[in-house]
Amino acid sequence: MGQGRLFVLSGPSGVGKDSVLETLFQKMTGISRSVSATTRLPRSGEIDGRDYHFITRSQFEAEIELGLFLEYAEYAGNLYGTPLRGVQEQRAAGNDVILKIEVQGATAVRKIAADAILVFVEPPSLAVLESRLRSRATDGEALIQARLERARTELECVRWYDYRLVNDDLVSAADTLRAIIVAERSRVRS
Ligand code: 5GP
Repeated sequence: MGQGRLFVLSGPSGVGKDSVLETLFQKMTGISRSVSATTRLPRSGEIDGRDYHFITRSQFEAEIELGLFLEYAEYAGNLYGTPLRGVQEQRAAGNDVILKIEVQGATAVRKIAADAILVFVEPPSLAVLESRLRSRATDGEALIQARLERARTELECVRWYDYRLVNDDLVSAADTLRAIIVAERSRVRS
């Protein structure tokens, strides 16, 4: 049994990465999501330990010092990071791991793990992304504007990725991601 692969899924906030992953996991085994730590407050419905490990900034900074993160980044005023240990354990057990992280973090992963497979999720358009962000009633206008501004910059980063997929239809986006993972599992030449 070889080491599990490391997949990275990025794309602007509100593009539907969580829904794509949820749909994927209903159809696929041998792959799990890493649960990130963040200093952001939970949105309604989010559960600590399932969606994120919600921690304070001082806790987060202490964990950076201890080298507990594979990567971390600041996004719209909050810190987000991938705990190193869970990823190492999953991969050592032969399971693939998928990180749902933003573009700075993906760039860091590329440097640390050259064999990581980077997938970028695009919205059908910026207008669709804006309406999806607005339908999350928990975020205020300033936060929505910050996320949209960041999305414009992030969309240009697709060229650093190995694959792109457009989330215009959830089921077909999840199917495309599944096809990418299946192909990568069959890869011979690196
Ligand atoms: P949200 O606040 O919408 O849950 O996440 C904001 C952004 O942070 C999203 O693009 C999400 O993918 C990204 N993110 C979540 N966890 C991590 C992480 O561990 N590391 C990095 N670099 N980004 C993350």
